[in-house]
This record gives sequence, structure tokens and C-alpha cells, in this order.
Amino acid sequence: MSEYTPMMQQYIDTKKDYKDCILFYRLGDFYEMFFEDAKTASKELEITLTGKNCGKEEKAPMCGVPYHSVESYLNRLVAKGYKVAICEQVEDPKMSRGLVRREVVRIVTPGTNLDTQALDETKNNYIMCVVYMEDRYGVSIADVTTGDYFVTEVDQEQKLMDEIHKFAPSEIICNEAFYMAGMDFEDLKQRLSIAVYALDSWYFSDETARNTLLEHFKISDLQGLGIKDYECGAIAAGALLKYLYETQKNSLANMTSLQIYITGKYMIIDSSTRRNLELVETLREKQKRGSLLWVLDKTKTAMGARMLRSFVEQPLIDRGEIEKRLDAVEAFNQNAMTREEIREYLNPVYDLERLISRVTYQTANPRDLTAFKSSLAMLPYIHSLLGEFDTPMLAETRLELDVLEDIYQLIESSIQEDPPISIRDGGIIKEGYNEEIDKLRHAKTEGKTWLMELETREREKTGIKNLRIKYNKIFGYYLEVTNSYQNLVPDYYTRKQTLANAERYITAELKELEDIILGAEDKLVTLEYETFRAIRDSIANEVLRIQKTAKAVAKTDVLSALSLVAERNNYCRPSINENGVIDIKDGRHPVVEQMINNEMFISNDTYLDNSKKRISIITGPNMAGKSTYMRQTALIVLMAQIGSFVPAEHAKIGIVDRIFTRVGASDDLASGQSTFMVEMTEVANILRNATSNSLLVLDEIGRGTSTFDGLSIAWAVVEHISNPKLLGAKTLFATHYHELTELEGKLNNVNNYCIAVKEKGDDVVFLRKIVPGGADKSYGIQVAKLAGVPESVIERAKEISEELSAHDITELTGNLISEPHKPRKKKEKLDEVDLTQMSLFDTVKDDDIIQEVRELDLGNLTPIDAMNKLYQLQSKI
Ligand code: ADP
Repeated sequence: MSEYTPMMQQYIDTKKDYKDCILFYRLGDFYEMFFEDAKTASKELEITLTGKNCGKEEKAPMCGVPYHSVESYLNRLVAKGYKVAICEQVEDPKMSRGLVRREVVRIVTPGTNLDTQALDETKNNYIMCVVYMEDRYGVSIADVTTGDYFVTEVDQEQKLMDEIHKFAPSEIICNEAFYMAGMDFEDLKQRLSIAVYALDSWYFSDETARNTLLEHFKISDLQGLGIKDYECGAIAAGALLKYLYETQKNSLANMTSLQIYITGKYMIIDSSTRRNLELVETLREKQKRGSLLWVLDKTKTAMGARMLRSFVEQPLIDRGEIEKRLDAVEAFNQNAMTREEIREYLNPVYDLERLISRVTYQTANPRDLTAFKSSLAMLPYIHSLLGEFDTPMLAETRLELDVLEDIYQLIESSIQEDPPISIRDGGIIKEGYNEEIDKLRHAKTEGKTWLMELETREREKTGIKNLRIKYNKIFGYYLEVTNSYQNLVPDYYTRKQTLANAERYITAELKELEDIILGAEDKLVTLEYETFRAIRDSIANEVLRIQKTAKAVAKTDVLSALSLVAERNNYCRPSINENGVIDIKDGRHPVVEQMINNEMFISNDTYLDNSKKRISIITGPNMAGKSTYMRQTALIVLMAQIGSFVPAEHAKIGIVDRIFTRVGASDDLASGQSTFMVEMTEVANILRNATSNSLLVLDEIGRGTSTFDGLSIAWAVVEHISNPKLLGAKTLFATHYHELTELEGKLNNVNNYCIAVKEKGDDVVFLRKIVPGGADKSYGIQVAKLAGVPESVIERAKEISEELSAHDITELTGNLISEPHKPRKKKEKLDEVDLTQMSLFDTVKDDDIIQEVRELDLGNLTPIDAMNKLYQLQSKI
């Protein structure tokens, strides 16, 4: 058997330690991949698969990407959930004898990618570590690009899911126990595009985790971090840190603190509520435009945008904290001129958090430092303008904002105004910063003059009029003499190279000059490189101050943005209470009012409390505005708890601990569960987890089953919620079951509302105004007409509707209304009620048609075939 070539042997030895990664192996100007990695990468990246002689009979499959555009290929693989290990040449090929030494210098994974092009600057790129132990979950979260690092523990899978949805990490690492615990990872991967990896158990050993934390923070006891009582939390934090060391292979100096994050400090919002309320992205298109964040985000800096997003993701529940933010927003409102001035100074501020991270990772280049400087230049102005406000939060922020004068001065005095990106070509350090650099630079320029003088002298001496001193990389400096002057070349010229029409020579004097000049050049580049690194390291030492300042800038940005939004959109300051009263006068939906440009948004009131007005049953035709109204209430409460002003004339907001929504059509169809099953799972979750301080928004519960069952379920749910002994949560309940309006008289805290419509002949006009009382009609047929359903179908529907009204459904539910707790008894009743569910097809007498429809092979029908078939069927009716 033949041996592998030495290079291939080196590759194979390296790859052994990185089995779970695609190994990018540096070969000259390319990163090459071999064997299985090559096959995977060539497919995923659509690059050609070739082969390389590896010493064996068969060639090794190979593909490669050029080093200068490696980032884009790397990002594509990482975005698909692969880990990529970068193996570099770690010694200069010119200096090494034999095979160049190579080492993996970094592993890039979805949650640890540092490339700015792959990242959205308005979003954190979180990696989460979950450790499942003894029925508890230790959770630690970090963003390596900003240095944010948190730890917490939760005791239920549901709460863990809430955290996962809140942070939306791009990668989760976990212990085997968690991986085996039966979570739906496919759902996480597909719906949230989270890469999930179970790591070897040694990461999660008590000792590894502990030691990693102690070493990183240079402490002797976990008490120092305040996480002594967080047994599995500490393991999660330690394992996460270990993983980051393994992948980043640097000092992680930007991870300066571990924050204990108490989930109980924030409003609980489950994942479907987050999606339904479209907090940071829309339900369908998954885009920011159309979300609450889109309306609120008028921040100027990337740090501010990220902080605002986290405000929206985690509303507060502590009145004092909410008021502090509101005070700050109000203060900005009262002094809008200063606010605008501050915002102007915020405008040119770069992403200080990610900049300082690059500084600590030693990847920041000279231009990063000048960007840093121009940002720091704004700080004194922001600091001084903040002095005009004496509200506690702004005063605090001002104290936290260090103007970093020393760092500004350091960069100002040392780095050229318009430096190159590369740190290896010189031209970085300013005149006057380092004597040695100045001297070398001088020699370099002097050298040029010496060369010119030498050239003139030689011309005069030899009489060669067009004699020129030139330079190239291979020969260095030389004298060039064209063929016509060859007879004048003196003896002391040594020939170096012959060209077609000229000869190139050197002389002893020229050689001497060359040594001085090139020596100076090399020394200069090296010295500039070293000096730059020293400057960067001394800035890295100030990471704590810079991070603190970055957060203060972000807070200023967020609060001033909230103030501007409040002013522009005509919001009011909510008055926060803890007695459970939600009283909104002329509330508006913050997003819908922005989306309907020309039409006027109709405002509506909401009143809910903990006694007589706990539950509002809302009826009204489809399209009347029920769900808009309910979401608007939920969003106003949520905005208030973020610390934002709200779209209303005035608003009293009783703090809620959780918001739950169960809203109409579900996007879970793709997950394979039936709509009804999804709906009921959500209802179960709500009833189990809501408290009397929660706000519930329930839209059309019980729609996915037969009318009778649906109504019964809806009825029982309202009863359960309204009973303070069982739940007693404030609730907005939209329904198409008019029968539920009967509950107003039966239960003392239920009230009916409907959204007013006006009949105009055969049509219906939506007034969009909520009024007390129940709707008497559903206007379904009129709405169908508005939607453009053909006239013939509308007419037929009217006929059917008249026929059906003979079976009065309320008559059938009589039992329920008089005895709410009594279960349905008579089977016959159900059959009768089911009649009311007749679909259009039931009315077609001709069984053949139904049979024909059943037999259609829908999967293989082209749109045209389908149209033809429909046409045929229609002609038979
Ligand atoms: P429903 O839930 O009753 O079927 P929606 O809440 O979905 O109705 O409202 C339908 C549409 O009516 C919305 O898309 C919105 O454009 C418009 N709309 C709803 N409420 C208002 C309002 N208060 N003012 C203006 N337009 C509204």
C-alpha cells in the first residue's frame, strides 16, 4: 500500500480533531477541502469537485475557494448550519524547510460568526447553551460580537421555549440529556433556523465548567460571580465559555462580565403570542416592516437598535422601572430641541460594541480605529447635552457615559487620518508619535533623493543621456541602459539582466543605497505593525469602560427614539397602576395606523378591570376590525411596559405579568398538526399558565370543530377564565358565536361589545367603532360579496341561509344557557346542529359531483386542468 503524501498526511492528522467541522485547509492562495468535506462543500457551494494526487492510487476528492473571498463561502456554509474550521499556514513558507506548519486558528459556527457581512447590525447574534439536569434547565446566552453574556435557570420546558423565542439564538449547544429529552429540534431548526448541537459530556462536567469560569474571570470562587446557587446555570455558562474558547481560540477579553438574568423580571410572552403580535417581524413575510419594532425603531446607532429590540422582546413588570423609562421619554419630549441635537451627534457613532470586540480579538484594522475615534469625538457633546436633563434615568446614563478622552487622544495622536485597511503595509502611524518610525520614514524619503542624485551623477559621468534608475521586486534597484548607449557603459557596471532593447546593471554604490533604503522600508513596516498592535492592545485594556459607555449611548439612543416616535405619532404617556385597571381612551393600533396611509384609523376605547369588567365578549362581522382592536389593546399594554408612550388620547395601564394571544388562522399548518389541535394546545397552555394578572386575547376560539363542540368549548373557556377562583384573567374574547353574548347576564364580570356596522341596502358599511352590546347579525354573506365572491354564489347562499334560519341554533343551546355546567346530553341535538354546518357542497343534490371531486388527483393537477375541471363541475350544478 502506498503512503499518503506528507501534505495529505498532515491534512488527515488535522482533520481527526475536527470531525464535526468542514476543514478549510490553506494551500497557497486557496482554502482546499478534501474527501467528504469536498463533496459536501462542492454541493452546498456549487463549486467544482476535482481530485488531488494524495499518494494513493485514487485521487482525493477536492474543491477549493480563493482566500480573498473566503468570507462569502464561509458564511454560506455557516448559514446552512455547518461548522467550519479554518486551518492556516502558521509559518512563512519561505522560511520553512519541508512542509509548512499548519494549525486550526478558528472555528466558525452559526452562533460565533464574527463577519460583519453575515450579521445584521440591528440584531444580536446569540449563541445559547442549555443544560438539562434533574428537571431544571441551565441556560446561558452570549453574543461574541458584543461581549454580552447572561445566565439563568428555568424549571419548565415551556419557559425554556419562551427564552429561546425571546433570544432567537442562531445556535444552541446542549448536553446529551437535553438532546434526548424529546424537544422538537426539527421545529427549532426549520422555523427559527437555529443550529442545534449536542456536545461531548466533558464540556458539562462540574469541574470543567467551574474552572473555565474561574480562570476566565480570574477569581477563586463562583461566589464572585454571584452564581453559587445556580448549579446547572453555572454549568451552562462554563460550558458555553469553554466552547467559545475552543472555537474562537483567543482570550475572549470582551466577555467582561456574566449577568444573572432573572426571567421573572420581565413580562412572559410565549412564542405564539410573540409571533401573533408581530413584535419584531410580521407573521407571514417575516420582515421587520409591519412589526411593532418597525414603528418604534427610530434609533440612530446599531447599539441602540439592538437595545430597542431587546426592550420590545422583554417588557418590564416593575412599576418603578417602567416609570423611570417613561420619565426619560417625557423629559426628551419636553426638550425636543436638545433631543434632536443629541440625535444628530448619535448619527455618526459607529457600533462601539462590535468595534471594541474586534479590538479585543485583535482583528481590528487601522480604519476601525479611525472609525472608533470619529465616534468618540461625539461623546463629549452627548455627555454635555444630557446634562440638561435631571430625570434619574438620564442622569444615570450620563454618569455611565465616559467620554473616553484618553482613548480619543491616543488614536488621534497615533493613527493617520486616512489609513490603509491592511496592517502589514505601513502608512498607519502618524508623524511625531514614534521617533524611530519618523527616522526610518525619513531614510526612505532621503533615499529617494539620494537615488535621484546618483542617477544624475552617473548620466554626467558616462554620457548616457537616458540612463534611468528603476526598481522591481526581483532585482531591486538597477540602472537601465538602452541598446543604443551600450558602448558608453563603464567597467564598474555589473550586468544583471538583458532585455530586447536594453540592459540592466548594478554598481557597488547603488547596492549600498539599496540596502539602506530597503532596510529602512522593511524595518518601518515591521515597526508600524508592532506599534499599531501595541496601540490596539492598550485600547483593548479599556474594554470595560468602552462597553459601559456603549450601553449608555445605546440607552440614550433608545429613549430619544421613543420620544421622537411618541411626538411624531401623537402618543400619550400611559399612567401605570398596580390595581389591574386598563382604561384606554381613543386607542389606536400602532402599526395599522401607520400602514393605512390615506384612510383614517378609527380610535376605540378599552376598559378592563379586576371586578365587573374582566371579560369583554366582542362580536361583529368578519373584517369589522375585531382582531385589530384586540391586538391594539395588547400592543398598547406591551408598549407601556416597555416604557414607551402609547397611541391613545390617554391611557391607564394596570401592569400585566403575561400576555397570551390565541389568534385566528394559524401558521402551524406546515408543522403537520391539524388547525384544531394547534388551537386547543394553545388554549390548554393559556389556561394552565395564565394568572389573574394576565391579559388574554382570544380570537375565534373553537372555530376548527363542529359548531356545537366549538360553542361548548368557547363557552366553558369563558366560564373558566371569568371565575376568579380558577383564573380571573382580563380577557378580550372575539367570537362568531352570538350565543356567547348570553353570558353577559349569567356571569357578573362579562360584558358584551360589538363593532358597529351600518346596513346600506343590501350592503354593509364598516364603522370600526366598538360599542356596548352584542352584534345581532353576522353579515357573512355581505362580507363575502365585498370580497368578490360571484353573484350567483351570493344569491344561492342567501337562499340557503333563509332555509337554515328555520333551525334556530340558540334554541338548541338552550340547555347550556340555563345550566352552564351541565354537559350536553342528547345525541340527536348534535345531529341537528351539525346540519347548520352544511357546506355549499352539501346542498348539491348530485352525488356524482361530490364523487368526482373526491376522486380528483389534486397533487397532479395543473392550474389549467383545475380551471377546466371547475368549469365542468359548475356547469353540472
Ligand atoms: P376582523 O378581525 O373583525 O375580521 P380585522 O381586525 O382583521 O377584522 O380588520 C380588517 C381590516 O379592517 C384591517 O385589516 C384594517 O385594515 C381595517 N381596520 C380594522 N380596524 C380599523 C380601525 N379601527 N380603523 C380603520 N381601519 C381598521
